[in-house]
Amino acid sequence: MNIGFIGLGVMGSPMAGHLIAAGHSVFLNRVKPVCQHLVEQGGTPLDSARAVAQAADIIILMLPDTPDVDAVLFGPNGVAEGLSKGKLVIDMSSISPVQTQAFAARLADLGCDYLDAPVSGGELGAKNAALTIMCGGTTAAFERARPLLELMGKNITLVGDVGAGQTCKVANQIIVGLTIAAVSEAMTFAKAAGADPAKVREALMGGFAASRILEVHGERMINRTFDPGFRIRLHRKDLGLAVDGAKALNLALPNTATTQQLMNTAIARGDGDKDHSALILTLEALAGQ
Ligand code: NAD
Repeated sequence: MNIGFIGLGVMGSPMAGHLIAAGHSVFLNRVKPVCQHLVEQGGTPLDSARAVAQAADIIILMLPDTPDVDAVLFGPNGVAEGLSKGKLVIDMSSISPVQTQAFAARLADLGCDYLDAPVSGGELGAKNAALTIMCGGTTAAFERARPLLELMGKNITLVGDVGAGQTCKVANQIIVGLTIAAVSEAMTFAKAAGADPAKVREALMGGFAASRILEVHGERMINRTFDPGFRIRLHRKDLGLAVDGAKALNLALPNTATTQQLMNTAIARGDGDKDHSALILTLEALAGQ
């Protein structure tokens, strides 16, 4: 199959690698030196998103934020200029559910289908082709995308119509963000009270407080390894989607709003490009540690 892949960052680079390894013809845009191995493995670099859309039947995006997807789809030399009837765009970035519906409607006017398919599982999930993938779109688009999604993920669900995958991802980010804040507070409390945070984490992993976040992010907090991973800046973006969505729905999400404020502070402190487990540094600073 001819596939386009745009957005070769922490996540997109290994994801595109799986498609190339499976024998597909993969057309790439903005191949940085750090992604040169994708070309050596057989990927074809092209000089615009437009050229990628012309060469591919299915175009996958893995970009940081809503304005990036907007620019790549509809900007000058963008995907829309290279599309023709019958092509499918799969957006695996985490972006606004509302804007997703608008993007899908504009592509439908060009005779093209759209599937939102954001992911959970982090860099490790991307490298191990073990991502959880949350989809929004028609059953036909989902079934067309499924063989490709199965090369990148394991738990793949059609949640509902276009936008539902992004709504599901926002819900995921609320749970992950608030749990990271909770683990950060628990570790900060344990340290202040004189207990060894490493021992506390070890003990808690056997009880009701056990979670993937306590296991993986708790370990990063203890080892002070904050290389991304998932940048605090990107997680703040996701909680912003939750808070903005809540406003439109007249909905109270008080704990989400507080965690977003903590992430604002973390970014102001210079931690925006650290892994989201570095939120503990902000809690420690508030505690005078
Ligand atoms: P990243 O910043 O590492 O990668 C984004 C890539 O997009 C970069 O390589 C950048 O050069 C490229 N890009 C930006 N604008 C472009 C353009 N106009 N044309 C071509 N390429 C362009 O981000 P990431 O961590 O890979 O995250 C990507 C998406 O996946 C985000 O929406 C993020 O929220 C989501 N996500 C990330 C993780 C994670 O653990 N990192 C996990 C789940 C979901």
